Amino acid sequence: MRIDLHTHTTYSDGTDSPAELMRAASAAGVGTVGVTDHDTTAGWAACEQARPAEVALVRGAELSTHVVADGRRIAIHVLAYLFDPTDSELAAELRRLREDRLDRAMLIVQKMVDDGVPISRAQVLRIAGHAPVGRPHIARALMEAGLVGSVTEAFGSYLSYRQPYYVSKSDTELNHALRLVREAGGVPVVAHARSRGAGLVTSREFFAAASKAGLLGVEVDHPDHTPADRAELRAIAEELDLIPTGSSDYHGANKALRIGQETTSTESLQRIVAASSGRVPVLCGPALDHDGCRHLTAGASIGASARHEVMG
Ligand code: AMP
Ligand code: ZN
Repeated sequence: MRIDLHTHTTYSDGTDSPAELMRAASAAGVGTVGVTDHDTTAGWAACEQARPAEVALVRGAELSTHVVADGRRIAIHVLAYLFDPTDSELAAELRRLREDRLDRAMLIVQKMVDDGVPISRAQVLRIAGHAPVGRPHIARALMEAGLVGSVTEAFGSYLSYRQPYYVSKSDTELNHALRLVREAGGVPVVAHARSRGAGLVTSREFFAAASKAGLLGVEVDHPDHTPADRAELRAIAEELDLIPTGSSDYHGANKALRIGQETTSTESLQRIVAASSGRVPVLCGPALDHDGCRHLTAGASIGASARHEVMG
């Protein structure tokens, strides 16, 4: 069974609802799916409810972080797995990131509106629904207005950081995010380290420093990575004892990627589980061996009241 630990739902900028994501995973032979919506755990409950028996669920999130290199802020995404969503410091930081996303998206839209681009704030908010607002939602508004044919086309034009409309997010400083995730019992993994701007800074030295600051893994196999990127990241992971992962970064119709097109080994998943505090277990399917799964999940669950607190 395939293990795909990086996917998005309608609770961020994916187009599949949690139920559709679970069906897509099952249909693609993905036995373990990691749900990693941007800066939120709001989709966890719906994923838990929609999870079919044959699919194991790894609850996570993708955090927006940054490092400063040569005076420039470089965005680094951190996948955080199996952390306690009720941890107050981490929950507060995720809330701040979501609020910042909203302010920033409204600024981008205002710049476009001022320039005569026929979209509106209300339209973007409608498209985002319950998700923290991201540029893919603005891309959908641009598609509705007939200005671009796809999300990818929007990212190559109106939404590019080279455009005057671009506004950056005020992401968490990387080492701070690593500390928050570890203190919440979670396992931080750098996502798509060689894609877009991140590739400018993600040298061996970067990973050595991040590993000292609490990083535990690196996403080696990702659709954005060339064979050379993968070989180099695998060697870095091996040398620094970081957990290597592989994932599709599935976004439904927002990106031309198939769920399960990149995968993580069972050994890496077991290392992730072992490195977590155990408070938030993998909700099991057949991908992990059953005894191991029982052992890993014994006695650990998040209470409904705690969950309510986070979702609210
Ligand atoms: P934002 O987080 O608002 O800066 O938007 C960037 C996010 O859009 C990234 O995390 C990507 O996962 C997502 N995204 C979805 N579709 C695309 C695309 N076609 N090109 C680039 N990014 C995309
Ligand atoms: Zn992602």
